[in-house]
Amino acid sequence: MTLYEKYPLTITNSLSGKKERFEPLTPGFVGMYVCGPTVYNFVHLGNARTFLTFDTVSRYLRFLGYRVRYVRNITDVGHLESDADEGEDKIAKKARLEQLEPMEIVKRYTEDFHNVMRVFNILPPSIEPTATGHIVEQIRITQELINKGLAYDVNGSVYFDVKKYNATHNNSYGILSGRNIEELMESGRDLDSQEEKRDRRDFALWKKAAPQHIMRWPSPWGEGFPGWHIECTVMSTKYLGETFDIHGGGMDLKFPHHECEIAQATGANGKPPVRYWIHSNMLTVNGQKMSKSLGNSFLPSELFTGSHKLLDKGYSPMTVRFFMLQSHYSSTLDFSNEALQAAEKGYKKLNASLRTIKALSSAGGETGDTEIDKALISLVDECYSNMSDDFNTAKTLAVLFEMSSRINDMKSGNLPLKSVSAGVFETFKSAYIDFMEKVLGLEEESVQDNNLLDGTIQVLISLRKKARADKNFALSDKIRDDLKAIGVQLKDGKDGEITYSVE
Ligand code: AMP
Ligand code: ZN
Repeated sequence: MTLYEKYPLTITNSLSGKKERFEPLTPGFVGMYVCGPTVYNFVHLGNARTFLTFDTVSRYLRFLGYRVRYVRNITDVGHLESDADEGEDKIAKKARLEQLEPMEIVKRYTEDFHNVMRVFNILPPSIEPTATGHIVEQIRITQELINKGLAYDVNGSVYFDVKKYNATHNNSYGILSGRNIEELMESGRDLDSQEEKRDRRDFALWKKAAPQHIMRWPSPWGEGFPGWHIECTVMSTKYLGETFDIHGGGMDLKFPHHECEIAQATGANGKPPVRYWIHSNMLTVNGQKMSKSLGNSFLPSELFTGSHKLLDKGYSPMTVRFFMLQSHYSSTLDFSNEALQAAEKGYKKLNASLRTIKALSSAGGETGDTEIDKALISLVDECYSNMSDDFNTAKTLAVLFEMSSRINDMKSGNLPLKSVSAGVFETFKSAYIDFMEKVLGLEEESVQDNNLLDGTIQVLISLRKKARADKNFALSDKIRDDLKAIGVQLKDGKDGEITYSVE
């Protein structure tokens, strides 16, 4: 019996709004797609929460014994400033403002993203495709939708025809978000590109590039660039098949992004693309979504150093990871200093027990007290059943605290090791270590220290490059001098690259 048969998984499917028993299309194999970042800016802590959620999902699926193909894209073109197909492309705009090539922007912020992921011990996906690497496929599917009468071109742009889709697909536009059409039409009022659309709900598959637009590709409709939603349809179905198991992303992507993905993929392939939709809720600050545009976001590096005005002090990445895992992914999580301080204490306690249990060995008990054995095994069972219950990390941590108390009792002698049978001790020990490290990614901080040091320095190097590009030499010098003061020497290469050595 495999672990996934022993502890069957349930997932709250955003499509039905209900908890459903998870059954992958191919037994033993899970295909999962998660919308990745738009790489036009530094990753903030809110973004990190979403990627942490899906890191935990993919870790647990693997832990249960599934083979997982995890695809997480990089959006490097097509994400406009407004969801109503208006405004500049975010990357093109940043390139214009910083007088760089768009691909220089993409490289800089992709590197930052990877560094932040590494610092938080978020494992890399199996495939990390980019939107610009899949232009041909995006053109092809757009043409298919035109051929099927589900899209139309106007002045070099192509739009998806929602009315036509509804007429031919059981009125199903809106099945994911359940947003009412009046409301949608309200939000799209008075915008330029609405004039080209037959219906306010229509969305761009391809946009004509204005003469000054730098990111452009030839297409049957003239020079332009792809819409944001179509890239995810192309990259998910290319690597996972026309229908795949899990699609994830932040709650804010449900509408319009994921709604549009469902419509265009169903329109093109004649079947719904995704079986289980998972949406991770927002990290908030005083109840407001953390976001770059609201100005209430902070960077992981500011969190580690405590240099942001909202922070009383700095916190380690594992403390922050623990803080995020303490709430279920479907609830909003409000940032506060008090919560982080409590998380720091909590994480330290679990981490200390991790060290303790690694050093403990069985006393070879054979005929131990069965009540003790049963109680220990039942804690192990609870770890599985809580994680299998819609990835409930909050409840799993509560069980790990129970286990941590038992570990302390073992150490102090209150729970004599001789009274635990050898097999039960080994099961208990490996479950504690595995749920901490493999499932929740809460590695011992000393093991993490090297990754942390390197990741944090890389994040500071990115900031220094940015400061130099902005001609903010006071800041770029401060970063170099402050690092030097603590023994980290930065070296500027001829090509603008910065390396470092630790004295
Ligand atoms: P973006 O780079 O803006 O496309 O966002 C990347 C990912 O981060 C998306 O899945 C968003 O849903 C997610 N995200 C953005 N802001 C937050 C937040 N405050 N809390 C949690 N996730 C967020
Ligand atoms: Zn997406």
